[in-house]
Amino acid sequence: MKGYSTFSLIRNALGGHRFWKPVWRTPEPKDSYDVVIIGAGGQGLATAYYLARKYGIKNIAVLEKGFIGGGNTGRNTQVTRSNYFWPQSSAFFDHSLKLYETLSLDLNFNVMLSQRGVLNLVHSHHEFEGLRRWANAIRINGVDTDIVTAAEVKEIVPLINMNSRFPVHGGSIQRRGGISRHDAVVWAYARAADAHGVDIIQQCEVMEFAISNGKVTGVETTLGKISANQVSIAVAGHTGVLAGKAGFRVPITSMGLQAMVSEPIKPCLDTMLTSPVIHMYVSQSDRGEIVLGGGADVYTSYAQRGGIPLLEENVAALLELIPAFSRLRLMRQWSGIVDITPDTTPIMGMTPVQNLYISGGWGTGGYKAIPAGGDTMAYTIANDEPHSLITDFGLDRFERGVLIDEGAASGVSH
Ligand SMILES: Cc1cc2nc3c(=O)[nH]c(=O)nc-3n(C[C@H](O)[C@H](O)[C@H](O)COP(=O)(O)OP(=O)(O)OC[C@H]3O[C@@H](n4cnc5c(N)ncnc54)[C@H](O)[C@@H]3O)c2cc1C
Repeated sequence: MKGYSTFSLIRNALGGHRFWKPVWRTPEPKDSYDVVIIGAGGQGLATAYYLARKYGIKNIAVLEKGFIGGGNTGRNTQVTRSNYFWPQSSAFFDHSLKLYETLSLDLNFNVMLSQRGVLNLVHSHHEFEGLRRWANAIRINGVDTDIVTAAEVKEIVPLINMNSRFPVHGGSIQRRGGISRHDAVVWAYARAADAHGVDIIQQCEVMEFAISNGKVTGVETTLGKISANQVSIAVAGHTGVLAGKAGFRVPITSMGLQAMVSEPIKPCLDTMLTSPVIHMYVSQSDRGEIVLGGGADVYTSYAQRGGIPLLEENVAALLELIPAFSRLRLMRQWSGIVDITPDTTPIMGMTPVQNLYISGGWGTGGYKAIPAGGDTMAYTIANDEPHSLITDFGLDRFERGVLIDEGAASGVSH
């Protein structure tokens, strides 16, 4: 892989930027691969990259019906954190955050990780008690989190209105949390995977699976048949559709999750602020836009469209907390289809079909999990057994009734 450096930047600037090499190839699909991964979002590409880099499997294809990062990985609000309640979630998401902390260096691509903190607000005495319990659990899990007083909240977010209908009582902050640049993350993994020989094939939709004697042997795509020893599904909001084609069911509800950005303004919000009660979260992007979102749509759908009711709800919530933003103009609003499990924990690992694996059910929070998701799925595929960090995330937990309820941790869609 050609390294990016100050020197290469200067050299290419002197050449009028005409000599940059394409960041990845556009290969024709081969008839057969060792591993086929469905979906070129962050999860699929990271899995391919770690499979090639750590396990030396080079004959890999990532099949994408649209374009690289055109799914939820390019639509999310970039929140990166690991302050989860249950030990399994904490361990997994903190592994991810640690990988994020060195990702720019590891992939030689600036993913613009900004550890500006993720600040959760509480608005009542009782809620504060619950938050303390949550914060204690997180700390016992070995993950950083601090309780902050109302005065400290005001210091971190000077623009905040402390005395709205829901007065701010305080909050908790994970200072290692923050945001990173989602396009950069997916492009970094695509570039690194390609450099390790992975074929990323865009405009190639998987329509059916070839399954013989309970074992997957390949896929039927819009570009023809491709055989494969192992296949992994990483299609976010379409997990239920693909699982159905492979003949098994997943307990997933698919619905739209919307977000929006304002026009860019000077830096004025130096944290990722979230309020489960007022029901919105907001941060300022490196371009200066105010990025905001709230809960998922309240109906199931595969339509990736924004809508006025949710826009009104999110904007009203934002202005409740930061009235000064009422002067801003919104620039864009969009939606992505998220697949939500009953316990809001992902489904990862093996499936009832031999040699077919799954990484789905990411709901509103799989962006922060891209490095760990890729790393652990690569192990799982290479060894045909779940990585120790994801043994409890398997599909079989719904049969055994051993759910990992992280509903509260993802109360406001991140
Ligand atoms: C508005 C919004 C805000 C969010 N905010 C956050 C956040 O702040 N923090 C966070 O951690 N998470 C967030 N998320 C969730 C996060 O974006 C996802 O969980 C994550 O991107 C999932 O990654 P993925 O690679 O599994 O899916 P995707 O990036 O969606 O990739 C799946 C790919 O599969 C392709 N595909 C589907 N079907 C087929 C097929 N049959 N054949 C071939 N290809 C197919 C799709 O085109 C898509 O490109 C948010 C999501 C949304 C929509």
